[in-house]
Amino acid sequence: MKGAILHAPHDVRFEERAEPTILQPSDAVIRLSATCICGSDLWPYRGANPVTTPTPMDHEYCGVVEDVGAAVSSIKPGQFVIGSFFASDNTCSNCKAGYQSGCQHAEFVGGAQAPRLRVPLADGTLVATTDVPSEDLIPDLLALSDVMGTGWFAADAANVKPGKTVVVVGDGAVGLLGVLSAKQMGAERIIVMSRHGPRQQLAREFGATDIVTERGDEGVAHIKQLTGGIGADSVLECVGTQESMMQAIRSARQGGYVSYVGVPHGVALDGTQLFYTHVHLHGGPAPVRRFLPQLIGLVFDGRIKPGKVFDLTLPLDQVAEGYRAMDERRAIKTLLRL
Ligand SMILES: [Zn+2]
Repeated sequence: MKGAILHAPHDVRFEERAEPTILQPSDAVIRLSATCICGSDLWPYRGANPVTTPTPMDHEYCGVVEDVGAAVSSIKPGQFVIGSFFASDNTCSNCKAGYQSGCQHAEFVGGAQAPRLRVPLADGTLVATTDVPSEDLIPDLLALSDVMGTGWFAADAANVKPGKTVVVVGDGAVGLLGVLSAKQMGAERIIVMSRHGPRQQLAREFGATDIVTERGDEGVAHIKQLTGGIGADSVLECVGTQESMMQAIRSARQGGYVSYVGVPHGVALDGTQLFYTHVHLHGGPAPVRRFLPQLIGLVFDGRIKPGKVFDLTLPLDQVAEGYRAMDERRAIKTLLRL
């Protein structure tokens, strides 16, 4: 089969790869219904993470089970399934506590920009839908695998509750779905920090009430002005840079909640500065598996359409153009058709 392989920064190729097979008795192999490009794929694409060996790309997937190992009991061939980018047994203490991305047997699921994918720990990782979804639901269900699950975790970890004021730092697909999540959780005011017209528009469609275009001191001042001088109850940091992290912490009120779901690159926090903010900090790789059953229900009920973040659709063989479009911010997120 052919799939996407990153050879060096800005060098993604669509080329021959080995067919995935059952390697462990707990594995499944699925045929993907569609795949996509994650914002975090841009870190190695841009050279921010070193590329030491040709690397099969991406980790977001949904599709139909083709084969399962001998030890798999609940997942069956023919089922439509969605899973997270971290395989998890869903039975260990960390999983039971709701942190499946920190599973004691967690395994990263990589190489999803391809027609087929091996998923380890199939029983714990995959969630089967009751019905096989219609074609128009595929982008929404694919989004649950990471970007929507991560946006939901960002809002959950920032303690978003009915009536609260929320700030979202970052207008990428995760930030935009953080807006959608905060809206679903009943936030009254949702302020998005964005300088990009089409993203501002989608943020408003998802429930944003205010847009702040300034950054740094001016951004903080604008947030304070919108929140009676005190800052927001909940702040979702969806980028992963020093600037965005400080923007988030400084935008929270005393004792507010800051979640961080952007993979940190060069972030260092000053203990003394943090000490006097009283903020609750909670983040990390989203335990998407915790939220999948609920989010699948919201999609099938037509209550959320997270697939709206896909504003570019290309056939998988044009994957390189998909990366270029996201790198140049011509696209929010690229869906790849098989
Ligand atoms: Zn576990």
